[in-house]
Amino acid sequence: MPNTGACPFCALPDCRGAPCPTCQRPRSRLLDSITAPYVYEPHIAWLITRWKYEKQEHLAATAARLMRTASVGPPPYDVVLATPMHWWREFRRGFNQAEALRAALGLAGAGAIARASQPRLVRTRATRGQAGATRNQRHTQLRHAFAVRGCVRDLSVLLIDDVCTTGATANAMVTVLREAGAREVHLWCLARTPTRSPAS
Ligand SMILES: [Zn+2]
Repeated sequence: MPNTGACPFCALPDCRGAPCPTCQRPRSRLLDSITAPYVYEPHIAWLITRWKYEKQEHLAATAARLMRTASVGPPPYDVVLATPMHWWREFRRGFNQAEALRAALGLAGAGAIARASQPRLVRTRATRGQAGATRNQRHTQLRHAFAVRGCVRDLSVLLIDDVCTTGATANAMVTVLREAGAREVHLWCLARTPTRSPAS
């Protein structure tokens, strides 16, 4: 289902295109924007489950096609970073779905940045699966889980991920990117859950 009338900051559905109550408080906004063209409902959940948990990596191309053909796309950016997985989880799954999505979207790891100096985001700590965790538990698990390698100072960063739930993962990445000097941080993902915090 297309994510119509989404909040321009957090992509919460059905906001008539205006900031949602949470995003009306500027201090609560860590990301500059989230673009999520679809609502996370059964069809999208079916696709993502097969893609991630049944290891059908080729479905990244389907997800990318859905994102490319949507009416909304990401804002301008300098560098693209896929949400990293801890090496052990990536080893067990066999691939990082966010990295597969970035590649399927045809986005180079860096726009105006020379490949040799391309920054990276790494996951320094494994966090437990977040299904069923409350919002506070997610934040606690994710704190200090990410680190920036290379320079993002004064750059506009576009993060790529498959789905945005509470935004806890994105917010943890934004924190380290801001500390490293990123000027703007945007997130482009396939789908957004329809509630701010479904697990809390
Ligand atoms: Zn919002």
